Amino acid sequence: MKLSTEGQSVERSGGVLRCPHCGGGLLRHLEVEVFTHAEGAAAVIKTTTASDGQARSTLIANRASGNPSPCGGGLRIKLTCDDCDAAPFFLTLGRHQGGIELGWAD
Ligand SMILES: [Zn+2]
Repeated sequence: MKLSTEGQSVERSGGVLRCPHCGGGLLRHLEVEVFTHAEGAAAVIKTTTASDGQARSTLIANRASGNPSPCGGGLRIKLTCDDCDAAPFFLTLGRHQGGIELGWAD
């Protein structure tokens, strides 16, 4: 299966997701954040699953939640890279103009 995106926001080579900071392939996931958001609603349910298996959900304002989608649901995977000293960062999937946009966020 091929990961297809427009632009250069996410690079995938040889089946390995590459670090956006150094290009290294030793990424680790720390936690996953799922944003459940009804279109047009001011609030979003943010569910975080940490690497220790604990999950928590909170109802917060969408604009302050980190949701990569301004109008719908979204997903962020918090990653760290063993190849560089970059601070943890996110791989994001957000709804944008009817499609799903894949990208990076700090
Ligand atoms: Zn790196």
